[in-house]
Amino acid sequence: MGASIEDKLFLDRFNVHETSHLKIIDGAVCIDDCEQQLCLYICPANVYRLEHNRISINYEGCLECGSCRIGCPHLNIEWKFPTGGYGVRHKFG
Ligand code: SF4
Ligand code: SF4
Repeated sequence: MGASIEDKLFLDRFNVHETSHLKIIDGAVCIDDCEQQLCLYICPANVYRLEHNRISINYEGCLECGSCRIGCPHLNIEWKFPTGGYGVRHKFG
C-alpha cells in the first residue's frame, strides 16, 4: 500500500521565516468577488483558511508548489520564494 499524504508530509521539514512569502493582494476581492475561493481547496498543505470572514494564510506549512498562484482566478496572491535558507526541505525515501 502506498504512503498517505500525511506520511509524505511528515518527511518535510520547515525552516520558517518570520515574514510570510505569500500575501493576498486585496482581501476584499476574496470575500466580495471570489465565489469559489479555490485557494481553500487546491492547496495540498491547507495553508489558506476561511476564518472570521477573511482568508488567512498559514504560510509556515507551504510546500512551495505554486498551485495557489496559478489557481487563484483573480490573480490575487502575491507569491515569492522564501528568503534563501528558509522554507520547506523535502526528504525522499
Ligand atoms: S482564490 Fe484568490 S481571490 Fe479567491 S479567495 Fe483565494 S486568494 Fe482570494
Ligand atoms: S504554494 Fe502550494 S503549498 Fe504553498 S500555499 Fe500555495 S498551494 Fe499551498
